[in-house]
Amino acid sequence: MRVTINQSTVELVQGDITTQDTDAIVNAANASLRGGGGVDGAIHRAGGPQILEECKTIGGCKTGDAVITTGGELPARHVIHTVGPVYRGGREGEAELLASAYRRSLEVASENGLSSVAFASISTGAYGYPVAEASRIALRTVMEYLRAHTDISLVPFVLFSAADFEVYKEALAELTAG
Ligand code: ADP
Repeated sequence: MRVTINQSTVELVQGDITTQDTDAIVNAANASLRGGGGVDGAIHRAGGPQILEECKTIGGCKTGDAVITTGGELPARHVIHTVGPVYRGGREGEAELLASAYRRSLEVASENGLSSVAFASISTGAYGYPVAEASRIALRTVMEYLRAHTDISLVPFVLFSAADFEVYKEALAELTAG
């Protein structure tokens, strides 16, 4: 499923983000940038030790912010590491922090002249953000950015599970209806 915004495309794919051949893939990192489980672990395993070395040099990343490294041995040229919020019931600014994680990732991509950026589903694994709510925030934030900026032409969302893929599909259909 895909939608066009200005000249840019947002598409939903099911699969493993480490195989994406985009200018950048966006990692659901943690604030220490020292690697972890889930998609973070998969990216460091597939990309080799260089990515972690670069992360150590950067030091850390605040919740809602994003930093960039090279892609190491990945097909993607760069990894943008963003830190989404841990979900604690929804009344602790989680929605704004999650939107910020997506927005900052795209800003970092723009600052680095990148034009294709693949996202994992930030915060919806170990950090516990309900995926239906998170998918709407993710898609809305990316679509808003693409309406205001024309430099990024392709944004795939790479959903690991078939269930998450269906949830994102529903959210995208809702957001693009009328
Ligand atoms: P967080 O700590 O931000 O919740 P996780 O890595 O635990 O991050 O989960 C985020 C999402 O990434 C989950 O939906 C999980 O299923 C998914 N995920 C795990 N491995 C991969 C992968 N190789 N490619 C894409 N998504 C993945």
